[in-house]
Amino acid sequence: MARDTSDGQTPWSRSVSDVLEQADVSQDEGLTEDGVKRRRVQYGPNELREAERRRWFEILAAQFTSFIILLLAAAGVGAFLLGDTIEAIAIFAVLVINGVIGFITEQRAVNSMESLQEITEIRARVRRTGEETEILAEELVPGDIVILEAGDVVPADLRVLDPAKLQVDESALTGESVPVGKTSESLDDDVPLAERENMLYKGTYLTRGTVEAVVVDTGPDTELGRISASLAETAQEKTPLQEKLDELGQKLVPFLLVVATIVLVSGWLRGQDFFLMVETAIALAIATVPEGLPIVATLVLARGMWRMADRNALITNLASVETLGSTTIICTDKTGTLTENEMTVAAYELSNGSVEVTGTGLDTEGAFQHGSQELDEPEDPVLGEALEVGVLCNNASVTEADSEPTVTGDPMEVALLIAGLKGGLDRTELLESLPEAREVAFDPSVKMMATYHDLDGRYRVAVKGAPEAVIDSASRLVTSDGTEELSADEKSEWIEKSDEMAEKGLRVLALTRKEVDDPEAPPYEDLALLGLVGFIDPPREEVKATIQGCQDAGMRVVMVTGDHAGTAKNIAQSVGLVASDDTEAVKGEQLDAPDKLSQQEREQFVNAPIFARVSPENKLDLIDLHQTVGSIVAMTGDGVNDAPALKSADIGVAMGQRGTQVAQEASDMILQDDNFESIYHAVREGRIIFSNIRKFVLYLMSCNLSELLAILIAALLGFPLPLFPLQILFLNVVTDVFPAFALGACGGSRDIMDRPPRDPNEPIMTRTHWTELGFYGGLISAATIGAFVIGGRMYAGGLETEEAVTISFLTLAFAQLWHVFNVREITSGILRNEVTENLYIWGALGLSTLILFGAVYLPGVSLALSTTPIGLEGWLVVFGMSLIPLGLGQVEREFRRRFGTPKLGTTLKNSLFD
Ligand code: ATP
Repeated sequence: MARDTSDGQTPWSRSVSDVLEQADVSQDEGLTEDGVKRRRVQYGPNELREAERRRWFEILAAQFTSFIILLLAAAGVGAFLLGDTIEAIAIFAVLVINGVIGFITEQRAVNSMESLQEITEIRARVRRTGEETEILAEELVPGDIVILEAGDVVPADLRVLDPAKLQVDESALTGESVPVGKTSESLDDDVPLAERENMLYKGTYLTRGTVEAVVVDTGPDTELGRISASLAETAQEKTPLQEKLDELGQKLVPFLLVVATIVLVSGWLRGQDFFLMVETAIALAIATVPEGLPIVATLVLARGMWRMADRNALITNLASVETLGSTTIICTDKTGTLTENEMTVAAYELSNGSVEVTGTGLDTEGAFQHGSQELDEPEDPVLGEALEVGVLCNNASVTEADSEPTVTGDPMEVALLIAGLKGGLDRTELLESLPEAREVAFDPSVKMMATYHDLDGRYRVAVKGAPEAVIDSASRLVTSDGTEELSADEKSEWIEKSDEMAEKGLRVLALTRKEVDDPEAPPYEDLALLGLVGFIDPPREEVKATIQGCQDAGMRVVMVTGDHAGTAKNIAQSVGLVASDDTEAVKGEQLDAPDKLSQQEREQFVNAPIFARVSPENKLDLIDLHQTVGSIVAMTGDGVNDAPALKSADIGVAMGQRGTQVAQEASDMILQDDNFESIYHAVREGRIIFSNIRKFVLYLMSCNLSELLAILIAALLGFPLPLFPLQILFLNVVTDVFPAFALGACGGSRDIMDRPPRDPNEPIMTRTHWTELGFYGGLISAATIGAFVIGGRMYAGGLETEEAVTISFLTLAFAQLWHVFNVREITSGILRNEVTENLYIWGALGLSTLILFGAVYLPGVSLALSTTPIGLEGWLVVFGMSLIPLGLGQVEREFRRRFGTPKLGTTLKNSLFD
């Protein structure tokens, strides 16, 4: 439903009141519940295109359309035509069970993923029935009043109502990367998109200021919606992991073809029933192509992502879960991630001496101490002016309530307001005599900010910023006796003073002011320096242990901060990021020309633990530098300018509380609590997920191989079939499934964070795993054939009896069940490890065991599976033989744990699977 332009007017050509009237909404009240409902029905959700959600019946249908399943269905029909009704019914029963299990698994995976996506969806602040609330951007309807601030992504097409210092980056739509200002004035009907200064378009974002705006178009009717409708539909992408699993599923196929041919030929030569042989080949085909692998993997991924979400790390990009476990370097900012971001002004360094400020946190009581003398602020004009600049050049607010004041804004600016209040300066009162005329917003590349204030026809400019930048722009110094020239030597002295303060761990800003006639005069020239202010921002308590944990896990932690080198170093030392005093921070400017770096510098920077005074562009170069030496880089960021770095890092980590929506959109992971510790937990979870996927892949594939080998060995030895086709199907569709799922839910082994990160290029199945696969597959099949032979001797009819086949079938089935214990990590203990401690495993084994008893003792089932009771002796053989692979498997694990990796089965692996 497109915008109503029946009267020929566009939202940008109407006045604000016309637009609101047309939308039938008042700015102060917003829409009512009913109004929202009606419009939702009329305009649909605010989504670019209906998400390609697969509906349940599509998922169900997909379970029955694969080639392998069709083969099975053909076998069922064949059995029916040959008059073997029980066989036919059994085959179709297997087909249905397989379909249902597949359907439930996939449906669960899809649901889980969808609800995960919901938590990371963009939200929007709206005013509805007079109240401000936060809703999912998808729920916006035309007529909604939206409130946005710097860093927010524009959630629909909006008409500007009340802009305040608003600037918008519209590069996503217009390609123009310089932010544009916005107004609420009406424009001509025919102004082109890029010049519609009173409109905000979906997908662009606010770089500065705040705005109230009314929604005029949503979803596909937005400008972005129209563009993306013309783009080809993107297919649902598979993650690299899912693709690798798809491929793995096919790896045993050539082997299957060989076995199937041998089985067919030998069966035919020995005059066995040809249809039975064909059925066996089809059953083997189903056994060897584990089609469910990617789905089970998705379920494991979803489970892991939920666990991460519980630990405050939201994953926004599925593929990054795989990368997480391989992270080798975490580049983290300092403020708020390693430190508390609870700032207090602790000291001033002024031309007339140093001043200490007492009182912590948001407490507005405190004194200014000059040595032992307590200073009364108004009598020290320099301190008075320094406090004033801090309060004026500020975007935060402190409202004094009864007990604790309520604060909004940057904690550093809040601290300056609190310091002002300690000296009797209230921002609101001050602004009455010095109203703000202009603001030059803080820019992390310039590292300064300025405000202009009306002063009897002239303008007072208040500037604060990083000392080097501010001192460089200053030409005068304010002293108790007036203003004097600031010489180059004095500038160096002031820089030294700021270095000294920073080395004590204080965050330092310089404060300056000047007066100008023209409000458009440039801000950062000819400034009069008032002095320096130092803030305390204590390190987070838990960070030290976490950094140690990261180092134990083979990950380097690198501090990348916009702050002063001294402050950075001091904090780095206190959180244990660097041990010795002689580690100096690399300055961001040293990275300014990355192409000109010498090899030696590159090496130095790649190994450096602290980067200070880093600009957002430097972050990009740093990521690049690390990536060229093969590192997997996680990089944190929160600001609008951090988006490119977050995108180019292997894992972009945005802050949930401090971070802007733009940063969050660009990231792969959002830390809901802004806490460094959450990165550590996420990496741990990433490692667990990968190792669990590996476990069930190894498990399922070795079970499959054992079935193929058992049939092959029997065929080569001229034995009859040790397993009937339906038995093979039964094993794969029923008994293997539960332990495999359970393996996906193992916790981490105890040493999971004591080993180096996994090489991202390492395949899911390494050479060692293929070796193990051959070894286990061989062991289980050998035990099965052994039990078959023993069974053959125990009963009069020999190998041809149902008893002998039941014994080999059960031996294989139980050997496969016990085999779960063989896929534990090589470094875990025999009795207590991540597999034995996983209760799901025990549940799965119990369930599968019951099912196997049922397979023998439930009359209908045993008839279909051609099994028969085998008596105590038979069961002894089954348990005795099925435990052998477990025993030998554990011996192998222990042997390797103690003496390194023996080259078991390498030849087999090389010849068959390489
Ligand atoms: P981190 O990267 O660890 O969060 P940071 O906050 O110091 O550290 P930036 O936000 O890039 O990094 O700021 C760089 C420097 O700019 C700060 O160290 C400070 O000196 C100065 N600065 C930061 N915010 C402001 C502001 N609002 N007004 C003036 N100067 C500021």
